[in-house]
Formats: sequence, C-alpha cells, structure tokens
Amino acid sequence: MSRLSGYWYAPLNSERFDAALIVTAGQYRLAVDDTTRLHGQFNDLDISDRTGNITRRIRFSDGSLFETEDNDAIDEILAQSTHKAAHVGLFHRMESSWRWVIVGVMVTIAAIFSFFKWGLPAGSGIIARSLPVAVHESVAAGSLQLLDRFWLEASSLSETEQADIQARFETLISGIDPQGFNFRLYFRKMGLPNALALPSGEIIVTDSLARLVDPPEELDAVLMHEIGHVLERHGMQQVIQASTIALIATLAIGDVSASADLIAGVPVFLLQSNYTRASESSADDFAFRELANQGIDPANFATIILKLENFSRPIQKKKSQQEADSRSLEDRTDDTADKADYLSSHPASAERAQKALEYSAAHFKPQS
Ligand SMILES: [Zn+2]
Repeated sequence: MSRLSGYWYAPLNSERFDAALIVTAGQYRLAVDDTTRLHGQFNDLDISDRTGNITRRIRFSDGSLFETEDNDAIDEILAQSTHKAAHVGLFHRMESSWRWVIVGVMVTIAAIFSFFKWGLPAGSGIIARSLPVAVHESVAAGSLQLLDRFWLEASSLSETEQADIQARFETLISGIDPQGFNFRLYFRKMGLPNALALPSGEIIVTDSLARLVDPPEELDAVLMHEIGHVLERHGMQQVIQASTIALIATLAIGDVSASADLIAGVPVFLLQSNYTRASESSADDFAFRELANQGIDPANFATIILKLENFSRPIQKKKSQQEADSRSLEDRTDDTADKADYLSSHPASAERAQKALEYSAAHFKPQS
C-alpha cells in the first residue's frame, strides 16, 4: 500500500481539502478526513508528467483534482504499475542526468555526421541511378557551351591526331554496355592535362593530356575511367548531394539566393570534378575491369596517373615557391600547410596506381 498526501479540489468548487490518495493492488481510494470520497482503478487516473519538482496533479473522472508534492512516491507507484504514464518517470530521470544529456548530444552529432558522411552520398547515389538518361542529359545541357565560353579553348590537335583518338574511343564504347547513354568525345585546350565527363556522356579531353600519353593505351585508361563516372552516375550524385547540402544550408540560414547560385555553378563544379574518393575508386575499378576485358593492360592506368601527378606537382611547387619568395622570412615555416592541402586535393594517386598494378597482375592476360 502507498499513501500520498496532498490537497483535493472538489469539482466546480475552489474549496481545498487536506486529502490522501491510497493505492493498493492497482486500486486507488481518495480519502478526506478518513472518509472515502472516490475510488477506482489506478490506471484510469489522469496523472500529469513530472517536470522537476513541480506539484503533480491527478485528475479524476468527475472533474475533481488531487495535488501533491510527493513526486518520488508517485513515480514509485507508476514504476510498479501498468499505467500509461509509467514511462514518464524514465524521461524525467534522463532529463535530470548530465550523463544522459551528453549521450544525447553525442548521439545527435553522430547522427548528423553519419547523415552527411554516408546517408547523403548513398541516398544521392540511389536517386542518381534511378533517374532516366534523359534527366542526366538535361542537367548537363548547356554545360559544355558554358565551359567553352569561360574555360576551354579550341583544340590545336591535328585532324589525324583527333581521328586516331576518336577511333580508339569508339572501340572502347563498342566493348561496354552504354546503358542508353550517347557517349561523345570532345577535344579542347586547357592549361592542365585533364579529362572530364559530363553526366550526359560527353567526355572532354585536353590537348595536353593527349600529348602526355604514351603509349595511347594510357589515354584509353583515362577515358575508361571517365566512362565509369558516367555509367555510375557520379556527376548527378554529386549534383544531388551538393544541392541537398545547399538546400539544408538555405533552410538553416534562410538565404534563398544561395541555392540559385549553386544551380548556376553546376558546370564549374563539373570542371573541378570534385568526386568523392569512393566515386574515384569505383570508377577506377570499372576501368580496370573493362580495360582487361578489352585486352588493354590496366597497368596503363598506373603509369598515366603517376605522370599526371608529376605534372601537377612542379606547378604546385612553383606556385608555393613564388608565394614563399614574396613572404617575409619569419612566416616561411608553414610549408606543411601547402603539403597538407596538396594531399587532400590529390587523394592517393600512388595508392590508385598500386591498385591498377595489382589488378593487372591478378586479372590481365596479355594476348600474344
Ligand atoms: Zn575521376
């Protein structure tokens, strides 16, 4: 038996009585001056939630009210009962404990981190793969013209050089399942040796890349990697992912113009080809497999990616050297910052080359 003391307010009456609520084996009895005024099932009582040590109110079906400050005793009775408010005590205990508050904050941070790290890329990937090719084409529509207007120049490769590469490209395409994509190759001039793929299947090769490759199988390796990006819908995945982040930022900050900037920035974004490491590695795997299928040694991927890395490194060095020269002596010590930045923007070329060599050794049979 549990006994709670408090006050009882009769229905439609502001008069207050000293009262006791006695609970025994799932039954309650409200007594005023030892006279039972009300009785019934404990589970039928309407009990207010606990908030700190604020007076608890128990409402009866006749509209009368019992008030008590004996919060702990109510929680104890609730804990032993099947009353629907029994769980509230647990929430109160969680709220009042800093340990639970810290756990709550950590779980929230982990959930947000997991969303951006895994949930968003996975979700964007699923959406990107479920969209028809026509949607990929319309997202990329106009991108090449924009790139031409601002970043790319007409190729200076001879017609013969272009025709040779075009023929190799068509051979590569004929050996894969294009999944409805209309693959096209474009030749353009830009500072760095580079290749990029638009989500529509338009692939751009720069003159400096075409001149860097030797033997031509190295270009096949780069092209197959770009074809992999298209077929695995990495461009669209990145666009969806970046748009979602922009949308969330817009909702959080309340600046709608930010999302318009993002849509306008799609071609820039594609030019930077900021794919995730997971996307790069997946396009690499596609390239190794398909190259080997077509009798082209995936080891060509290893040699060209190392050449590309060596090509970009002196430029990086030159740039930081110029910066260093213009700096005063005392702040020349932060070269490590340049190095860290370089590594984060060039994820593990050596590792990717190693994987190509391993794939070649394990799966490639030279045709004699
Ligand atoms: Zn790539």
